[in-house]
Amino acid sequence: MKLCRFDHCRIGILDGAAIADITPLFDDIARPAWPYPPYDWMVHHFPQVKPRIDGFLATARRFPADAVAVDSPVANPGKIIGAPINYRDHVDESNADREINHGKTFTTLEQLGLFLKAGTALLPSGGRVLIPFENRRTDHEVELVAVIGRAGRRISRAAALDHVLGYSIGLDMTVRGPEFPGFRKSADTFAVVGPWLTTADEVPDPNGLDLELRVNGELRQRSNTRCLIFDVERLIEYASAMYTLCPGDLLFTGTPAGVGPVRPGDLIGASIQGLGELHAEVGSL
Ligand code: MN
Repeated sequence: MKLCRFDHCRIGILDGAAIADITPLFDDIARPAWPYPPYDWMVHHFPQVKPRIDGFLATARRFPADAVAVDSPVANPGKIIGAPINYRDHVDESNADREINHGKTFTTLEQLGLFLKAGTALLPSGGRVLIPFENRRTDHEVELVAVIGRAGRRISRAAALDHVLGYSIGLDMTVRGPEFPGFRKSADTFAVVGPWLTTADEVPDPNGLDLELRVNGELRQRSNTRCLIFDVERLIEYASAMYTLCPGDLLFTGTPAGVGPVRPGDLIGASIQGLGELHAEVGSL
């Protein structure tokens, strides 16, 4: 199923051309009290609610999907984790382009590790990406995003996918420059995720999905997640060797070749096979 948030605090399931409001299924689940847990409340409780969804859909309120503004599917990810260099063709383009590499040589994820993006960078599909420095190159990066559903640390490769609730489309927006990725990739609006989360049961192989990105309708990136250097399982194993993964954590899996600059007024469209289509407009602060 395709799970979304809309109207800021409503939880919905995409049902054909409609969004069915399943928020009442969460009514008897206590909201978290301060100090808040390090996981997302809705994602953490989704397994409790899931068996009742099918029966509830018949009577659920419905809204036309194209008339509703969606929010990012996860409200409060405890962590947004990114993989800097995870497609061979992007490693090659990065090492060939001084505007991307700034004199560094990109090697392997074993050497470079992962990076974190700030929670305040989160932006839903349909939102406006704000460029913080107009005189600096700011690039699009389309990426498969895995949404962690079950907590774990030191997760084995064999168990990795059991910890995934579902998948979504992400834009890992990036200012090019010499600073650490945690600075250049964490600006407000630089983690676009959406439009909804497709549960893992509908994605039998996350390492075999076509993905593409267009700017103003022009194709910029096209690949398939089978080209991931660290596949989804390996990324979860690797990330969880360092961090406890919590429900709602977002794992950006890396971008293929074709990254390039965007400017205010540009319209970004990204799609991943079976996961829908994400849109963002580019603006300036
Ligand atoms: Mn990226």
